[in-house]
This record gives sequence, structure tokens and C-alpha cells, in this order.
Amino acid sequence: MTSDGSDYDVAIVGGSISGAGTATILLRERPDLRVLIVEKSAAFGRGVGESTVEVSAYYLSHVLELSRHLNEEHLVKHGMRFWFANDATRTLDQCSEIGNRYQLRVPTYQVDRARLNEEVLRRAVARGAALWREAHVVSVELNDGGTQRLTVQRGADTTTVGARWVIDGSGPAALLARRNGWWQANTAHPVSAIWARFRGVRDWDEADLRRRNPSFGNATFTLRCNATNHLTGDGWWAWLIPLRGGDVSVGVVFDERRVEFPIDGALGERLKEFLLAHPAGREILGEAAFVEGDVHRRRNLAYRTTRFAGDGFALVGDAAAFMDPLYSPGLDWVSYTSSVAADLVLAQRRGEDVAPRLERLNRQLAQSYDRWFEALYRDKYEYLGEFDLMRIAFQLDVGLYYFGVASEPYRRGPEAFLEPMFSQPSSRPFFRFMRFYNRRLAAIARSRRARHALGRHNSGERAILNGFTFARSSVLKLGRAFVQWGRLELEEWRLRASEGPSRDAANS
Ligand SMILES: Cc1cc2nc3c(=O)[nH]c(=O)nc-3n(C[C@H](O)[C@H](O)[C@H](O)COP(=O)(O)OP(=O)(O)OC[C@H]3O[C@@H](n4cnc5c(N)ncnc54)[C@H](O)[C@@H]3O)c2cc1C
Repeated sequence: MTSDGSDYDVAIVGGSISGAGTATILLRERPDLRVLIVEKSAAFGRGVGESTVEVSAYYLSHVLELSRHLNEEHLVKHGMRFWFANDATRTLDQCSEIGNRYQLRVPTYQVDRARLNEEVLRRAVARGAALWREAHVVSVELNDGGTQRLTVQRGADTTTVGARWVIDGSGPAALLARRNGWWQANTAHPVSAIWARFRGVRDWDEADLRRRNPSFGNATFTLRCNATNHLTGDGWWAWLIPLRGGDVSVGVVFDERRVEFPIDGALGERLKEFLLAHPAGREILGEAAFVEGDVHRRRNLAYRTTRFAGDGFALVGDAAAFMDPLYSPGLDWVSYTSSVAADLVLAQRRGEDVAPRLERLNRQLAQSYDRWFEALYRDKYEYLGEFDLMRIAFQLDVGLYYFGVASEPYRRGPEAFLEPMFSQPSSRPFFRFMRFYNRRLAAIARSRRARHALGRHNSGERAILNGFTFARSSVLKLGRAFVQWGRLELEEWRLRASEGPSRDAANS
């Protein structure tokens, strides 16, 4: 029993990365806290969320102190690569490509989520958290400023447990948001995903493949097989993420408005067939087979809660929101939400009035999600299959991420996680600029689609980039993207004039 009469100070729903990660931060600061983690599964399966980017890699290595575990049990990631094709593209060599010339300078990882989740949970327990496993929280009665009451099913038993705080880390099940009517689908972004782990995937760097695809072979000095490779098409993209031990995670994400995914046959077969229509997919996945029983589908990926926290609860990770898997923002979002949730609980334990913090947290997380979505994802699927448009977007998206987001924890330490991306007034001009070019590129793609002029640059071109760093001077590299954008606008104007006006207004 705790000092205020509850069984626990903090009860956490879900023992995956956001739940157990929040427990770790809390117990490191306050080892005396009585923390209970309730996790439904007997053992974690291989989930999605396998590719980390710079912010989440910092969180995993510097906040959760997992560097050694990441090096020993997972793979170092070698950036992102994108592969484009049009009707004339026959071979891998002919696919247009975007990617880095060298390995990234800031660490990032490809993680096996079953192993990572187990390790984070194990460490939270080692720090003193109590764990109820194969137990599931059926309902939560919220009491503002009082004791929260959780009803937990453990085998045949149903138990009620009291805690001053509930942290909801239940993932897409989003227990509190759904039960309390706060869950809202992001209807502007109807994207779905299908994924599986594959065996027998060809090595992107093997000698035979390079011999048969001569211009592909010498274009880059990093390992393509350690990258997240993206295949792209009109309204869809697919990831290929290597995992330690040889399996490769493969999934497709598509905009329901643009892509009709085949409906006949087993889901894994349909996934493979869909990807074999892309020349890069044919080359890399031709001999591969999906792992039986490990094929998944999720519809309507994008949503958010309208309430993130109150005096007695906080929502973390996917229980709070999800946007889109492109650029792997999921674990970045976990880093921010877990950090602000832990900060809130710790402030209350210090005896501070949490009301101002709660007002700020609810405002900032809602703003962060909405701006992040508008700046990067709204209508992205209009143009992510276009090499020349994505070349510009990729440089601007990644360059600005390095400049204003990823560099922050490295410069300021974990405090930076208390200011979620796009939540500060200083980020407003960047948000507006990103929203502007994203809209502009989507409008150009719409105009091309109406003129049946998509994909002209999708064959035989390569954008091999030297990559960004956190040096302020690195931002000058964005100049290249501006020049390309200027040229693109001129070329589009010329083509629109010669091919006739599009049915869509290009500026819509
Ligand atoms: C298709 C797709 C691809 C993605 N790819 C990436 C990527 O490459 N990189 C990236 O950073 N992010 C990616 N994400 C996002 C990423 O998967 C999530 O952001 C991340 O896994 C969220 O972690 P979590 O701890 O919040 O939720 P989860 O990992 O889903 O954990 C929730 C836990 O809660 C437990 N639980 C649920 N309900 C209850 C209950 N009632 N009682 C007890 N326990 C419960 C579950 O068993 C589970 O263990 C992707 C998402 C999708 C949909």
C-alpha cells in the first residue's frame, strides 16, 4: 500500500517499448516508486516499428541506455533508399534510386521488436517494477486527482487494483482513448498496411547482382542491404528492413484512395505478387518466401486521441496516436510521449501543481501531431512514387529534421524530449515551409496524373546524396534541393503549356 492508500503509485497498461520505457525513466529518477506493469502477451511477437531514425535511436541508446544491447542483438542501419520504376523499367539497374553515398554519421538501428521489447521490459523489472504477464486490463475507472481503479483479468481471476497514476501504453488498442470516446480516425489519411517477415531475400550487395546490374554496383559506398529499402509506386510504398539473423521485414503501405490491393488468394501471396510487379522487388524478393503465420494487415493506420493526459493518467506511444510509417516516426513519438508522461508523474510526486503542465502537455501533443502530419504526410501518397518530386522532398524533409529536430537531444540532452516536434513557437516557420512544399509537390503530381504524365523520371536516374550532419553549415546542402525545385517548376510550367492544361488545377 502506498502513502495515499493506493496499491501502486503508477500502473502501466502494456509492457512494450512505450510502457516499459516510461517505467524505466520513472524508476531511474524515483527508485522508491511502486510501479506495476500489466502486459497481455506471454512473449512479445515480432511487431512493426523495426527501423529507428536519429531521434528514437538517441532515446533508445542514451535514455534507455540500450547501446550495447542494440549493437549485440540488432543491426546498425545504413540510411534509407528509395527505388522507382515506370512501364519501361525492366531491371534493378534501370530503377531510379535515391539514397546515401556513405553510411550515416549519426547512429540508427534496425531492430527485432520481439527482442527489444523483452529487453526493455526486463530492465524495467530489474529496476523494481512489478510485472503481471498474460494479464490484461479490462477497464480503467479514472478519478481526477484521486486513485485510478484498474480491472485486470489474470487467467480465470479478475482483480481490481488502485494506482495514483495510469500510463496507457496499450498501443493501437488505445484502451483509454477508445473507452473514453477520445479516439479519432485521421480521415484525411486513409492508409493501410500489409506486412510479413520473409526468408531467402537476395542480398542487395552480392557480387552476382552487381555484375548483372553494372551502374547500380558502384554508385554508393555503403551497404544497401543494411538500409531500409523502399520500393515505390503511385499511391504506395513498401519497406524492406533486414533483421539480425537473416529474416527481412517486408511490408506495403498504400493510400486506399489510390490503390486497390488484390483481394483473391492468401494475404502473404498477394503481398509478394504485388511487390514482384516492381523490378527491384522482382530482383530482391523473387526467390523469397514469407514466414507462415507471420502475415498481418492493419487498416486506417492514422488516428489520434483528443486527450493525452489528466491528473491521474497519460497516454504514451501508439495508445496516444499514430500517423504513418514512412520515415519511421513511430518510435520518435514514443520518445516524446513517454518522456512528457514521466515528467508529469514526477512533478506530481514532487508536490507540484500539475494543472499548468497538463494544459501545456495536452496542447503541445495535439499541436505536434497535427503539424507533423500537415508538414510531412498529408497527400504525400500523391507524389511518393515520383522520383524527381521525392528527391526534392527527401532532401528537404531529412535536412530539416537534422537541423531542427534530430540535433536537439544531441545538443541539449534528454530535456529536448519535453518539447515534442513542432510544439514550440520557433518551429512555426519551418512547419509552414514544409507544409508549403509538400502541398506544392502533391499539386504537381496531381497535375501530372491528370495529364497521364506520371513517372517520367522513374527510370535511369540516381540521386546519391552525401548526407547531413548536425553542423549548422550542413543546412547549406538544402540549396541543391532549392535549385532542383526551381528547375522542376520551370519544367512543369513548360510541359503543362505544351501538353495542355490538366483537369486538376495545379495549385489546388
Ligand atoms: C505498418 C507499420 C510499420 C511501422 N514501422 C515503424 C518503423 O519502421 N519505425 C518506427 O519507429 N515505428 C514504426 N511503426 C510504429 C511503431 O510500430 C509503433 O509506434 C510502436 O511500436 C509503438 O509502441 P507501443 O509500445 O506504443 O505499442 P506496442 O508495441 O503496440 O505495445 C502495446 C502493448 O500493450 C499490450 N496491451 C494492449 N492492450 C492491453 C491491455 N488491455 N492490457 C495489457 N496489455 C495490453 C500489448 O500486448 C502490447 O505489448 C510502424 C507502425 C505500423 C503500423
